[in-house]
Order: sequence, then structure tokens, then C-alpha cells
Amino acid sequence: MAEPFELAVVTGGAGFVGAHLCSALLAAGTEVVAVDNLVTSATGALDSVRDHPRFRFVEHDVTTPFSLPTMADVVFHLASAASPRDYLALPIETLRAGSLGTEHALDFARAAGARFVLASTSEVYGDPAEHPQTESYWGNVNPVGPRSVYDEAKRYAEAITVAYRGKHGLNTGIARIFNTYGPGMRPDDGRMIPTFLRQASVGEPLTVTGSGEQTRSICYVTDTVRGLVALAHSDHPGPVNIGNPHELRVRDLADLIRTITGSSSTIEYVDAAEDDPQRRCPDISLAREALGWRPRVAPDEGIRLTAKWFSRAE
Ligand code: NAD
Ligand code: UDP
Repeated sequence: MAEPFELAVVTGGAGFVGAHLCSALLAAGTEVVAVDNLVTSATGALDSVRDHPRFRFVEHDVTTPFSLPTMADVVFHLASAASPRDYLALPIETLRAGSLGTEHALDFARAAGARFVLASTSEVYGDPAEHPQTESYWGNVNPVGPRSVYDEAKRYAEAITVAYRGKHGLNTGIARIFNTYGPGMRPDDGRMIPTFLRQASVGEPLTVTGSGEQTRSICYVTDTVRGLVALAHSDHPGPVNIGNPHELRVRDLADLIRTITGSSSTIEYVDAAEDDPQRRCPDISLAREALGWRPRVAPDEGIRLTAKWFSRAE
């Protein structure tokens, strides 16, 4: 086990993944500063850590520069809308978070003497023409499609991270995170798992888009967080895929959720989303070799844990 970091800064720390990351870092003995403007956070996301003596929350929009009166070992840059529903509603804000926000987080990491870890995404692969996706694949992104505000922002974020490494010698790492789910997601964030769980719980039809043949590979949040922390502890520049290679058709995921929740909901096929990636599955050989990381939570177990949390949260 690596020594815990003394101090970590987490932008987007009040978000779904960010709040889990803050909890994991605190549990490991790290002092944590979360920086977030709360634009897509769940109410109460930080309730379990807010009063922790080693936790501090700073409300700030990272698209304007920031400084904190502290050095840091690591900056995790997660601040960005992530759900398609959110980033389609916040197109300019999402581009600004990925561009200006990443630049300011890099500047802060440089000033603080910290390693910088970027939360990038499998969306940089767009609708991939290669399968499974390795980090060497350059992607297939429509630069003027609706998803481009997110995809291109993250591609730019990766590019500027690499530029700071080359130009300023900043210690950086890039994680390409694949669909992550778990307790703490907003039931109304529009992503498939919270949507299907909410629909199953009230007996509404589960709204599967298109044919439902499109696939995703879903990673339980504690696994994703372990991957981010492992990347932070390494000196690997990435990009490194962090995801669960267990690939599922969206219609099969809807069925799994109906089975696990014992719901009598039907499945309703609705219009396909524009530019929806048809297949997504990470090749995680690099994460296994370079970080000694692999996911531990199988989809049925993770969905069970998430369903349990959702039923309690309602
Ligand atoms: P989320 O929307 O729950 O959290 C994002 C957080 O960033 C929110 O708390 C939001 O308020 C904050 N934020 C957004 N813009 C900001 C700004 N300008 N200044 C300060 N804070 C800002 O999303 P999430 O699922 O927790 O995703 C976290 C990160 O991981 C994102 O960068 C996302 O792109 C990346 N990621 C997530 C997934 C996933 O499946 N959850 C997959 C790939 C990548
Ligand atoms: N999806 C769906 N029903 C919903 C929400 C999403 O069938 O209510 C589909 C969506 O079109 C996509 C997949 O589920 O094919 C994953 O969507 P999500 O928004 O969770 O993540 P992303 O598209 O970013 O991978």
C-alpha cells in the first residue's frame, strides 16, 4: 500500500464520483479540499464528509482562476458536467469547464507542487470504430454533433494536460473513465442506471433508446475511485482506461434492473439519441500492468448495491 497523500484537492468534489473520491481519500488519512460550484451536484452529496476534521469545501467555479493557501500532493480534476442530460443543457459551461477549468486546475497544481490527475472519459473515443478500445485508438468524434461539447472539451483537456507536462514539466496523469455508477447518483440525472432504477421503483416503463442493442461497460464507483487513486500514486502519464470490461447491451441492462428490483415495469423503446456511441468496452491491459488495478465489483452485485441505496434514498 502506498503512503497516503498528505493533502489532495478535488475539483468537482461535490459530484457523484468526486464525493466518493473525497470519502476514500479521507478514509486513507488524507486532508481533502473539495472545490465545486455545485452546478450538477446532488443535494447533500457531501453530507457524510462535511464535518470531517480533515475536510474543507470551497465553493468556486473553476472557469475562473483559483488559488488556495496550501501546497498539495495531488489535484484530481473532476469538475465538469458528465451526464448527457446535464451537458446538453449546459453546452457552453461544459466547454468552459473542460478548457478554462482544466487550465486553471493545471495552474493551481503547478503552483502547489502537486501531481495533476485529469478525469477524462471514454467519450474521447466517440462512436468507436475499434473494439475494445485501447488507449492508442484516436477516436471517432463528431466535432459539431450534440455530444461534442463534452467530448471535445475532454479531448482539449487531455491536450492541454499533455502540453503542461511537456512545457512546464508538470507531473500529470490522464484517466479515461468509462460509465461509472453507484450510490449517490441523482435519480434525475438522465443517465441510464438511475433512470431505469427510478422507473423500476415506481412501475413506469424503462425507456430504452433506439434498439437497445448499443452497449456500455459499467464500472462500480468504488472501483473507479480505486483506479483514480492508483493513477495518482503512480507516475504514469496515461492516458489509462479505467472501466469494467464487462460489456452489456442497454436492453439487457434494463432487464437486469427489472430482475434485481423485482419490478413489474415493461420496457419501452424510445427514439435513439443522436450520435449515440454503439459499442463501448475498455481494454484495461494498461491499467492492470501499470497500476495493478482491475475492477472488483461485478455488474449484478453493483446494481444490487445501487438499487438498495436508491430504495433507501427515496
Ligand atoms: P457530476 O456531475 O456528478 O459531478 C461533477 C461535479 O463537477 C459537480 O459537482 C459539478 O457541480 C462540478 N462542476 C461542474 N462544472 C464546474 C465548474 N465550472 N467549477 C466547479 N465545479 C464544477 O459528474 P460525475 O459523474 O461525478 O463525473 C465526475 C468527473 O468524472 C467528470 O469530469 C466526468 O467527465 C468524469 N467522468 C465520469 C463518468 C461517469 O460515468 N460518472 C465517466 C467518464 C468520466
Ligand atoms: N439510455 C437509455 N435510456 C435512458 C437513458 C439512457 O436507453 O433513459 C441509453 C443512452 O441512449 C445510451 C446508454 O443508455 O445508449 C447510456 O446512456 P448514459 O446517458 O447513461 O451514458 P452515456 O451515453 O454517456 O454513455
